[in-house]
Amino acid sequence: MRLSTRGQVLPEVLARGTLAIEVIGATCVIGDRTLLADVDLSVRAGEVLALIGPNGAGKSTLLAAISGDRALRSGEVRIAGKRLHEWTLRELSRRRAVLPQENGVFFPFTVEQVVEMGRRPWQRTEREDEDTEAVADALRSTDIERFVERRVPTLSGGERARTALARVLAQRTGILLLDEPTAALDLKHQEAVLRLAAERADRGDAVIVVLHDLNLAAAYADTIAMLSQGRIVACGTPAEVLTAEQIGRVYEHPVEVFQHPTTGAPMIVPVREIRMSSREEGTP
Ligand code: ADP
Ligand code: MG
Repeated sequence: MRLSTRGQVLPEVLARGTLAIEVIGATCVIGDRTLLADVDLSVRAGEVLALIGPNGAGKSTLLAAISGDRALRSGEVRIAGKRLHEWTLRELSRRRAVLPQENGVFFPFTVEQVVEMGRRPWQRTEREDEDTEAVADALRSTDIERFVERRVPTLSGGERARTALARVLAQRTGILLLDEPTAALDLKHQEAVLRLAAERADRGDAVIVVLHDLNLAAAYADTIAMLSQGRIVACGTPAEVLTAEQIGRVYEHPVEVFQHPTTGAPMIVPVREIRMSSREEGTP
């Protein structure tokens, strides 16, 4: 298997371990603000990479740069071995699906119509045959089958977020770029979304997911990249990146890190002042 793919366009289905996304020296400047500073990142087919970091670190900017929605001052992004600007929009939409952080714009549409939009890139291709199955599959895996007829504005925030995710899943691309897909979701659906991401990776897709919940990142990511002030300050396995020292410094709040007794995954608990008086009242 060729791991180095520079300059070579890779087939639609990438072999596991192939570089799906490469970010090389990406720098993004708006006005006098540097949003990304010399960022390097790579994600392989079969990998879930969690992008973490405090508010304003540059996570959405980096995802937008990878999607092609945000221009770089210098550096480059490669998708499946080819530089971003060498792709047509239509080709790109068959390679990668993007869930933006803000996803409330499907104003007049029903849930089903929104999810069907995910199939547009495949119109008039052989893969049009998958449309019905892809939509049904996406509705099922995001648990929104019972809402198909509903109009998006009538949904709760979490239901709307799952609808937006379903559209992206229905697109069935080898690369998934998900910006805070779990932010509005309850515990069950948060776990379901990350399980889904992991399953897609197990089937050979490359997934980048922006997360605030460090415990979700610890449990589901193969690799974690930690951003702070537009720079990647740590990148590696969950155990390498999620240390108390590193989290405390970057998030500016002390944490304790334990090891899960059976899985060994890091478990992060913020240091909290315990209100002894209210606790003591309840004890016999
Ligand atoms: P994150 O997703 O990590 O919370 P963002 O990538 O959205 O952070 O933003 C990174 C920084 O860039 C923030 O400080 C934000 O205010 C700033 N920023 C984002 N978009 C713009 C813009 N269009 N003009 C100026 N600053 C911006
Ligand atoms: Mg963001």
